[in-house]
Amino acid sequence: MAFERGFKTRCENLAETVRKDLGLEPDAPLAPESLAGYLRIQLLHPKDLPEMSASALEALLVTDADDWSALTLGGEDGRSLIIFNPTHSAARRASDLSHEMSHLLLRHAPSTLMFSPDGTWTLRSFDAAQEDEANWLAGCLLLPRVALLAAMRQRLTDEVAATRFGVSSQMLRYRRGVTGVERQAARSR
Ligand SMILES: [Zn+2]
Repeated sequence: MAFERGFKTRCENLAETVRKDLGLEPDAPLAPESLAGYLRIQLLHPKDLPEMSASALEALLVTDADDWSALTLGGEDGRSLIIFNPTHSAARRASDLSHEMSHLLLRHAPSTLMFSPDGTWTLRSFDAAQEDEANWLAGCLLLPRVALLAAMRQRLTDEVAATRFGVSSQMLRYRRGVTGVERQAARSR
């Protein structure tokens, strides 16, 4: 995937700014709940949604539980809500929630809007380029370069580092590879 020039740096800067505003060190873990609080976004379990029928809940939590991750809804008052899939692992949820919030941080304009029958909320969807950007920023928010480098310097095992940052080991290894910190650390040894 090719990003606009400077995009990756912008993401690293965003990850640092958010932490700074929250009083966190640049290499500290960032819980998605803290990020949600920072962005004034409400995180909701599907059962917290008003007017959710038992059959709709059954579909979201049982029948179709594997088919969705998180949904961002825009409320009438301009504030967003994110409904998360509570059946997924904490690491997957962190990644999904960070992804949804990344769209908001990047001020992505949805390519499709669906309105609820009574018009109180909208369901957004984004185009492929925006999805790539949100994926990149989500990974960067959870594991910015400084955090990856710190974990390597401290010689944390993948498991320990992944637990510390609330991500999967797979995500940790992926970020270490795509950010080039692995090569950077190898050079400085
Ligand atoms: Zn998305």
